[in-house]
Parts: sequence; C-alpha cells; structure tokens
Amino acid sequence: MAEQLAALRLPTLPPAAPGTRGEALAGTLDGTRGALGAVRADYAACVDALAEVAALEARVAACKAALIDRLAAAGTSEAQALGFDTRQQGIGDASTTAELATVLCIPERSASNLRAQCVALVREHPHTLHALGAGRFSWQHALAILDQALSVQNVPDMPRDVVDAFERDLVEAACGVTVSKFTAAANRRRERLHPGSIQTRAAAARAGRCLDLQPGRDGMSYLGLYLPAETAQAVWNHATAAARALQGPAEPRTLAQLRLDVAAALLLGQETADAKAGHPAPRAQILLTVPILSLLGVSDGPAELEGCGPVPASIARRLAAQAPSFQRLLTDPHSGEPVALSPGTYRVSEAMRAWLRARDRTCTFPGCTTVTADTQLDHLLAWEHGGKTREDNLASECPKHHLVKHHKDGKTRTGPTKTNPQKTKQGGAPAGPGIRGWTPQMTETGRPGWTSPAGRYYPPEPTDATPPDYPHWLQDGISRRKGATDYSILEHALTVRLTG
Ligand SMILES: [Zn+2]
Repeated sequence: MAEQLAALRLPTLPPAAPGTRGEALAGTLDGTRGALGAVRADYAACVDALAEVAALEARVAACKAALIDRLAAAGTSEAQALGFDTRQQGIGDASTTAELATVLCIPERSASNLRAQCVALVREHPHTLHALGAGRFSWQHALAILDQALSVQNVPDMPRDVVDAFERDLVEAACGVTVSKFTAAANRRRERLHPGSIQTRAAAARAGRCLDLQPGRDGMSYLGLYLPAETAQAVWNHATAAARALQGPAEPRTLAQLRLDVAAALLLGQETADAKAGHPAPRAQILLTVPILSLLGVSDGPAELEGCGPVPASIARRLAAQAPSFQRLLTDPHSGEPVALSPGTYRVSEAMRAWLRARDRTCTFPGCTTVTADTQLDHLLAWEHGGKTREDNLASECPKHHLVKHHKDGKTRTGPTKTNPQKTKQGGAPAGPGIRGWTPQMTETGRPGWTSPAGRYYPPEPTDATPPDYPHWLQDGISRRKGATDYSILEHALTVRLTG
C-alpha cells in the first residue's frame, strides 16, 4: 500500500509553445509550418498526458479502495479487541461508516455503499482490483464488473471457480469500451451463465423497493417511487385515467400537471376531486418557517419548508390559512435566525421543540440530511452530569447518530455497560481501552461541532438563514432600532401603516 501510494506521480508537460493557446498563427509560410508543428506536438502531448491521467485516476481509485478496506478492517479489529456484542458491533460499524462519510464529504448512504464495494473488491475480486491498479479501466468500469460478479456470486450454490472465471472474462471485456457498452455485453454474458429464472430474480429485486425524496429548486422537490414494474404501470394508468376525467374546455392544466395533481392527492389520502382546485394541499404535518411580514402580506420574502428549502410567500400564506393552529417562532429581524426562547425549564416544551426544529433544520451530525421531524433531542452534556434542558445544551440527532454518539457509553444489547469507557463529563475520547465514539460539542453558532473517533473535528455546517426582506418604507425603522425584535418591528410597521 505504501509503495503504491509513493508510486503515484502526475505526468509532466513541456511549457506551452507559441500558438498553442488558440491564437492565430502568423508569419511566413515556413514560420507557420514551424508553429503548426509545435501546435500538433502539443496536441499529441496533451492526449498522451490525458491517457496517463486516466490511468493514474484508476490507480488512485485502487489505492483508495485498499485504504477503505483497511479502515473497515481496523474498525472490526477494535470491536474484537474490546469484546463488543452484536449491538455494539452494529453501532461501531455505523460509526466507522460515518468517519468515512465525513472525511470524504459524501452522504453516509454513499459511504456505506462505497465501503461495501471496496471490501468486496479487495477481499473477493482481486482480478478486477489488479486491473484497476494497473490503470486498465476506470473506477466506474470496476463497479460495473463488481455489480455483475456479485449478482452471480450471490446465486445459491454457485461454484467459486465459475464466479472467478466470469470475473476474469468481464475484466477483459471491460478494457477499451465505455461502461454502457460493457454493461450491455456483460448483461448478456450473465444471462447465459445465470441458472435462476428471471422471475425468481424479479421477486428478489422487489426487496429493494423504496420511496425517495430529493429537494429541487424554486419551491419544488422530486418524489421518486422505485417499485415493481407492473405496479408502476398501474399507478401511471390510474393517475392518467383520473387526470383525463378532469380534462375539459374550462380546465387550463395540461395532462402532465393533472396527472401529478391527482397522484399527489391520492398519496395524501384525499379524493382526486380535490385536485380540481389545483395543487392538493398537504394535511400531513410539515414545518414551515415564515417571516411574519410575509405572512401578513407586507413583504414577499420566501418561507422555508423543512427538508425542501425556500418556497414562495404566496404558498406559505395558503398553507398557513389552512393550518389548524400555529406555533409562534421569533426570528432575528437582522439575520433571520430563530431567536432563543426563555431558558431554564426541565422538560422540553412544545414551543422549545418547535424552536429547536427551526434552528437545527436537520440532524446536527456532519452531512446528515434527516429532517428534524425524524430526529430526537439529545442533551449534549447529560442531565446526570449537570446538563440543562436549554437550547445551548440540546441538539437534534436522528436515531442512528444518537446511537453512534452514545456508543462510547458501552451499553450492551442487554442494557448494562460492560466496558470502562473512561469518558469525561463532556464525553471526550478516552485514551485507554475504552470505546471511542462521536462527540458533539456546542459552539458559539448555537449548533454543535462533532469530533470523530479518529480525532477529526467537523465544525457545524452553515444554515444559510435568509435575512428578512423588508419593504423600503420599513428599512429606516429597522436600522434605527438595533436589537429590535420581530414584535417591535411589527409594531413599528403597523404604526407607520395606520398613521401614514
Ligand atoms: Zn443524523
């Protein structure tokens, strides 16, 4: 590994010759010929260097795979040395995946996939790893081979030598072709080799069905359904038929818009007739942070929909008009950040919960995007160690990262702790044989930073709070009133409106 890393060198290029930066070639015919020769030599040198860089990228990818496999092995060895039970092993594993995700700045789901791919590549598919390390194809090619090889390897009673021969065959087939061409060819080879019927495989593939939400722009999001093909077709046909039924001369919406409105109404448990009024209004609980002036229609500053980002004030006003009750949240009139409530209560009140949801927006673990509707409030300094139920000692954590944080407490599957964690009151990483874990610590920003088991510190991520958008006639009043609250600004706004 060390030699492989030391052997990585970038290609070198001679300094660019005149005429190689796209400028017109000038001068005599002989001079032009000379310059043209230089340009062509430079062109060829660039192509050679690109080939070298591509091979280098492949070798770097092989090194990265070996490093990730070694990190995973170190985590497993530590768990064995500390005598973890199955519960602790699971959490320790999640902690290592989180370490990988944070150091590479990728989502944990991606880190988990990457780790599994690297471990499989290093431990079970040496032909592919070797060809990648030799720069024969890219990381994407290696993943395509791995995907094919694993799908054959996972067939019950498949002999190992058949899998090996299939992998070697794929390695040769992947060199010099694009990933999509390779995949099409590999699918045919796999079909010839696969003993199971396509029906059996389709049944197994159904285990991967899921619903996926991705934030989009301009107040929109993508909602994806990965489901059996026949169900997908049935959903599509049903939505299309219902959408067509709504079409008519007085209906301005296109079929595509109607189909979506109908599908959303059905998913929200509403009658499709509701879709006649336009977009269906959500009745499930959502967290919407609305600047009060936008709510009153005084300004048009956007609201913030939890998990999705900014939505127009007009949508916020419509949702607010349909909400059965309100939870009031004050935001700083200058920065737009939520303003802390009065501290000191033992229980986390509903108002404080709502405030913390608005402050944190997501789980506070680095990179985690779990929205606060699905998180738990955690005392950063435990109650038994004197931690208070206050905003500066509470942080939103999703169940997984809450578990990862408490991993170092040494709790076993049956409850009692069986190791000596040697942790400090703040939960600092122990130097001795105790369990290392992730440790959050509150910062001046009002959000915690986290220290990983490897000792790396990840500061809190910026929240991108949007300063309120005040109308011109209010700007003066605000700048004269430093330290003003939403209330005093509202009072000022109403006074100006009533008297002016
Ligand atoms: Zn989380």
